[in-house]
Amino acid sequence: MENIRNEKKCGWLDITPEEKNKIFDFSEGYIDFLNRCKTEREATSYLISKLNQNGFKDINVISNLNKGDKVYFVNRYKSVYAAVIGDEALSNGINVVGAHIDSPRLDLKPSPIYEDAKLALFKTHYYGGIKKYQWTTIPLALHGVVVKADGTRIEIVIGEDDGDPIFTITDLLPHLSQEQASKKLSEAIDGESLNVLIGSIPSNDGKNLVKDNILKLLNEKYGINEIDFYSSELEIVPAFKARHLGFDKSMVAAYGQDDRVCAYGTLEAILNAKLGRKTMVAIFADKEEIGSVGNTGMRSEMFDYFINEILNKKNENRPGILNKVYCNSMMLSADVGAGVDPNYQSASEKNNASYIGYGVELNKYTGSRGKSGASDANAEFVAKVRGIFESNNVKYQVSELGKVDLGGGGTIAYILADKGMDVIDCGVPVISMHSPYEVTSKFDIYSAYKAYKYFFES
Ligand code: MN
Ligand code: MN
Repeated sequence: MENIRNEKKCGWLDITPEEKNKIFDFSEGYIDFLNRCKTEREATSYLISKLNQNGFKDINVISNLNKGDKVYFVNRYKSVYAAVIGDEALSNGINVVGAHIDSPRLDLKPSPIYEDAKLALFKTHYYGGIKKYQWTTIPLALHGVVVKADGTRIEIVIGEDDGDPIFTITDLLPHLSQEQASKKLSEAIDGESLNVLIGSIPSNDGKNLVKDNILKLLNEKYGINEIDFYSSELEIVPAFKARHLGFDKSMVAAYGQDDRVCAYGTLEAILNAKLGRKTMVAIFADKEEIGSVGNTGMRSEMFDYFINEILNKKNENRPGILNKVYCNSMMLSADVGAGVDPNYQSASEKNNASYIGYGVELNKYTGSRGKSGASDANAEFVAKVRGIFESNNVKYQVSELGKVDLGGGGTIAYILADKGMDVIDCGVPVISMHSPYEVTSKFDIYSAYKAYKYFFES
């Protein structure tokens, strides 16, 4: 008899010991990736090295593309597109999986160093949607680049090795917090108080400024002067390591899982997918957390440029063909969703919520309130994706971000849908999303990888 009820069952049930081993093995590679990549630039480096190791070539050095060729394009060292050329013409449609590699964080301001109350600090400007109080009194690391006026690039990572110092943002002691404690959570810590403590020893030159001593140390170690911060991109990120979570080690706790969890699954999927009829394209975008803006964000025309390059090098380009490619293409927008938090269940509508450990999450639509800003996948396309997952034993759940009136969010889905593709959001449910320490299930991480791989091959 057909299963007339849609029974939602935990993914850990009904798996073989072999599958369980695969899931746990996969999470080891993922945890290593997270520990190496806390910024979009570090993720870009990792992607380039993995793609090179697996036979992908920079599209700029290739003049002709044929079936089976593997290429990538690096955009300003902050975002990457990769493709495996399939059997058919691109105008029959391509299979796209798109994730993003930027995460919420604190960027340093252009003139970050200052001294106040006899201590040296960095001014920061937060990037993406954060709950500011979560970023105080935790160990922080500094990652990024300083580019000197002559073009010299200095890469900085400090706070990750056990011997490194870390940084922190201080908070008021409870004894004196009566006034602060009466404020709203969203107002108790303001953006201008997210100042990072970086030193306390004054310079020994008569002026006795702590700031001068820090500048001297930075000059000795990195050869930079204060003015070089003008041309830098330095990010303050949590210094926590990614860790196995729970007695059963079934979960991963780490910074930056939105959206590097889907980026890792997308990378592994395109590296392992069997060559198919359709050309497969993986997107690793920057700037999703602030609206996909700028020339490294998904709203720029850099993606069109990449697809045009493939069309040129396959001798398939002609006026209007790009529109036809998009019109016939399908995409999984590989971004995280909200898993039900046992402490905050009232934010979810349980019939349409995702639970961690119940498989990869499909969001037919995102948006806010009355579906404002939503990219809403067509039923026919949802059916097609379901079919791919069901016939390949990929466990999935269909959900919304949370209760209708509470808020909402979006991904890069609408940008590719605007071009004419069929797009649906498909990613890993996360608890404590956008916090310094996000939680995912290893079962879902592996399910997302399988989902992306079978979608590429379809
Ligand atoms: Mn995201
Ligand atoms: Mn996000």
